[in-house]
Amino acid sequence: QAKAEGKGLARRFDPAQFAAAESRRREEADLRRALDAGEFEVHYQPIVDLEGEHTVGVEALVRWNHPERGMIPPIAFLDMAESLGLLPRLGGWVLEEACRQAAAWQEQNPGFELNVNLSASQLGNPDLVEEVRGVLDRTGLPPSLLVLELTESVALVDLVESARVLGALKTLGVRIALDDFGTGFSSLSHLGALPVDVVKIDKSFVQAMQEGSGASVAEAVLQIARTFKLAPVAEGVEDATQASRLRELECAQAQGYHFARPMPAGDLTDLLARQAALSS
Ligand code: C2E
Ligand code: MG
Ligand code: MG
Ligand code: MG
Repeated sequence: QAKAEGKGLARRFDPAQFAAAESRRREEADLRRALDAGEFEVHYQPIVDLEGEHTVGVEALVRWNHPERGMIPPIAFLDMAESLGLLPRLGGWVLEEACRQAAAWQEQNPGFELNVNLSASQLGNPDLVEEVRGVLDRTGLPPSLLVLELTESVALVDLVESARVLGALKTLGVRIALDDFGTGFSSLSHLGALPVDVVKIDKSFVQAMQEGSGASVAEAVLQIARTFKLAPVAEGVEDATQASRLRELECAQAQGYHFARPMPAGDLTDLLARQAALSS
């Protein structure tokens, strides 16, 4: 009897469910179309040296500039792009576009660094190392100026394999950053196993920091970075209090709305020109 009921349920037409599936299908088709239509853009958020507050590099952050819906943030489409298998292509495009742009910025700003995020499927792609090598060759960006960011959750899908791929990437001369550091659960035990150069302190810890208060997670993460000889970058710095507290804790670099929001390449070029004019 239960079986008969189950069958009946499965057959019954559910308009809400149908509409949801329809809308998802439309959105998937839209996303595939967008990649061919060139609707993605890379924005760049300054990474500043906390001492002088000048911009020493940028993080490349993808956006979807949709003809009807306007600028769509990555959180609204990256998971879908990943599940549709579009991220190797989209991520490859972001990498090449950002490296080309960073190579152009080198002319006026030698040593200016570029951070690019890698997804799980990119890390799992056996051609990744060759792809990165090809992009560096084509764009002329010095490998030492490229930092590839991955989150702990991405790195921990297969720790041994991640360590191997990251090691191979490092032979190209690029650096590796652990993104959103501290939000995973096994950070400490795995830090030693991965060839990482930079840790990005997650914004939740930066924002939980109180001036003058005792130990904070941010402080503990900075201590870990020191112990493992990793360069710390604080993410999500939104006010001067957080910036000065991080300075006291000797965090060298930071990123956040307090300094600058992610912006189109042209605006970043203007920012670099203003910065050069001020310092000359
Ligand atoms: P993420 O790599 O941790 O990047 C930092 C995110 O924090 C960015 O969000 C940035 O706009 C935001 N942010 C920066 N400063 C502040 C601040 O002061 N306060 C707050 N509340 N947020 C701040 P965005 O651009 O929306 O990107 C979200 C995430 O999407 C990124 O987090 C990254 O995981 C992913 N993502 C973005 N672009 C790419 C990409 O090209 N490839 C891959 N695989 N992932 C990407
Ligand atoms: Mg990142
Ligand atoms: Mg992050
Ligand atoms: Mg994040």
